[in-house]
Amino acid sequence: MAEFDEQIYQQGVQNDQENSLEKSLRPQKFAEYIGQEAVKNELQVYIKAARSREEALDHVLLYGPPGLGKTTLAMVIANEMEVGLKTTSGPAIEKTGDLLALLNELQPGDILFIDEIHRLPTTVEEMLYSAMEDYFVDIVIGQGPTAHPVHFPLPPFTLIGATTRAGMLSAPLRDRFGIVEHMSYYNVAELEEIVKRTADIFHSSIASSGAHEIGRRSRGTPRIANRLLKRVRDFALVAGKEAIDVEIVNHALQILNVDQMGLDQTDIKLLTTMITQYNGGPVGIGALAANIGEEIETLESMYEPYLLQIGFVQRTPRGRVATVKAYDHLGYIMPTES
Ligand code: ADP
Repeated sequence: MAEFDEQIYQQGVQNDQENSLEKSLRPQKFAEYIGQEAVKNELQVYIKAARSREEALDHVLLYGPPGLGKTTLAMVIANEMEVGLKTTSGPAIEKTGDLLALLNELQPGDILFIDEIHRLPTTVEEMLYSAMEDYFVDIVIGQGPTAHPVHFPLPPFTLIGATTRAGMLSAPLRDRFGIVEHMSYYNVAELEEIVKRTADIFHSSIASSGAHEIGRRSRGTPRIANRLLKRVRDFALVAGKEAIDVEIVNHALQILNVDQMGLDQTDIKLLTTMITQYNGGPVGIGALAANIGEEIETLESMYEPYLLQIGFVQRTPRGRVATVKAYDHLGYIMPTES
């Protein structure tokens, strides 16, 4: 095998391994799903009610930053409802025919999960309205004089939509979700528990101090906690550590450029740009994105929400502003107003 192919092959193997590992990490039932207590409590009531009425669960919209467990929650809901689940994403459904093919495969009560639902093409979104509301779609078959409408009934089903950008959803689509849940960032204790659970699945031994430190530096996000644990585990192995402790976590995270608050290089670049080039703001997100070479959407969905949450950035009508907390953290002195 040529060297190049070998490399791709190895990457493929690694991706497959990572994917199956990723799958094994996903909690299957509410009992394993850590945190999001308010969301879980509400959903458990709706699921119990739907099951006792032997009806499909009402449509559910989950919104919040990436990596907080929306896809995982959709899987948990399907398991708790004991129904089938079809998973897709907004950009993957290009035409109404793609959606029809998915809807056509649903059994009564099944769940269709659409990730990034704010990125559905308009024609597809419009087809969803009647599907969600009255379980049918009207389509036109043929072209020109032979074109004729066909009424296509669907089984009762549940649509679970996930989005990082609730504000980008059109009102008619948003209004068709009976259950709307906001996913919030996890606290350190919850992330510590998630890290311990993941370490258990990996058969890695971890000290509480190590799990706590990873939890503390994961930006409130389970996906980041799991990713950091995977890398720290490598450092622990190479260093010949029997258990992952706070010392090896600190060492690994320093090399990975994750700072004491869990901020990564993009966070730092964003804040530093605001402070050094825009005098702390206000500055528009478009200017910031162009300046640091990131997509506006990435900044708005992944970076900004956490910086707002920890009070490093504020949004004002005139743009984003870096707060005194951000100045202190990065070692800059905030200019006093004259
Ligand atoms: P999202 O769909 O919001 O981007 P995912 O559902 O893909 O997030 O979750 C990202 C990762 O974090 C998954 O590997 C999952 O196993 C893990 N995870 C998410 N939420 C939880 C949770 N509440 N408890 C344990 N692990 C979680």
